[in-house]
Amino acid sequence: MGRPPCVRYLQDYVAIPSVNPMGSELGADERFGERRYAEHLREQLRRLGLDAELVGDAERPSVVAEARAAGATETLIVASHLDTVPVEGMEIDPFDPRIEGTRLYGRGSCDTKGGMAALVEALEHVLSGGSLRRNLVVVGEADEEFGSSGAHAVVERLRAHAGDRVRWALATEPTELRLVSCHKGIAHARLVARGLACHSSNPGAGRSAIVSLARAVLALEEHAVELAACPDPRLGPATLSIGQIEGGSAPNVVPDRASLVLDRRLLPWEDEASARAGIQGALEKAGLGDVQIERCELMKWALSTPDASPAVQACRRALVAAGLPDAPDVAAFGTDAGVFARSGVAAVVLGPGSVAQAHTSREWVDLRQVEAMARILRQLLES
Ligand SMILES: [Zn+2]
Repeated sequence: MGRPPCVRYLQDYVAIPSVNPMGSELGADERFGERRYAEHLREQLRRLGLDAELVGDAERPSVVAEARAAGATETLIVASHLDTVPVEGMEIDPFDPRIEGTRLYGRGSCDTKGGMAALVEALEHVLSGGSLRRNLVVVGEADEEFGSSGAHAVVERLRAHAGDRVRWALATEPTELRLVSCHKGIAHARLVARGLACHSSNPGAGRSAIVSLARAVLALEEHAVELAACPDPRLGPATLSIGQIEGGSAPNVVPDRASLVLDRRLLPWEDEASARAGIQGALEKAGLGDVQIERCELMKWALSTPDASPAVQACRRALVAAGLPDAPDVAAFGTDAGVFARSGVAAVVLGPGSVAQAHTSREWVDLRQVEAMARILRQLLES
């Protein structure tokens, strides 16, 4: 028996590299960037009769395609990001979609090309059967794994022709088909300590930036303990983790500069300004006037969609129809659903694969979940 369409599509998608350059320039290496995968999808969606186009950055575009249902009052946006994390250190060929039993291996198989493959199969089915009951906007957004620039470009485009219809969004990320309506947001901050350089044989003549930054690390750890003391009942506490640190130029020079980058996970009522204020307060409390916050940037908005939202209700019905658990849950990771929610479109996260396999050196997805996701999406489009 031949494989279901979603499996064949997933093999095609994994074979097209779409690695996120993670903040670097694209360069000549064809594995980087979303353009080739975006163009493949645009053509595939056009063949299904959709009005598909590329939006955002010309080198790293996102795909937006619309399918309209006669008389529909509700519009569903399904977003499945195009980019994958890098492939360094992988123990399998990242772009050779190998199937072993019920698993398909390859970079992006789980995060999150399996979701797009399920969507295209579901769409093909309802279009050929004339059973589409909701308007659908298919979104394949670039840059989810780094700055969400693709999701922002898509939101701008959708805002340009927003009507007064009910609109909600589903982001397909690996939740093992659990419905996720809440997750934390992410901010990154860079702190710089300034000192006074001098010869290391007479350190008293200078001021070590590394010592100042080390004091800042301890102050931030205390701040993290304060954050841990105020957990959200569903999401747990906001967190702070220092992921990078550097400083100094030579062993015999008292350093005049040292820096760190920290990752701050945000609860739904927090933003980059409140995160910055908390960090600033910790530095001031420790008397660290020579350590400055160089920047504090929001990477992902938190998500907190109420259970009464049509997004949650419709997904619950589709999960029940598929014989799967439907209780809304939380996720530990951030997604582009937060970007949609922030733009005023209620959003949830639901998709095949487990985060335990995402970003790993042997990434794989359970094909039974991809096939089940196609059935769930079909249910959503037909109801
Ligand atoms: Zn993802």
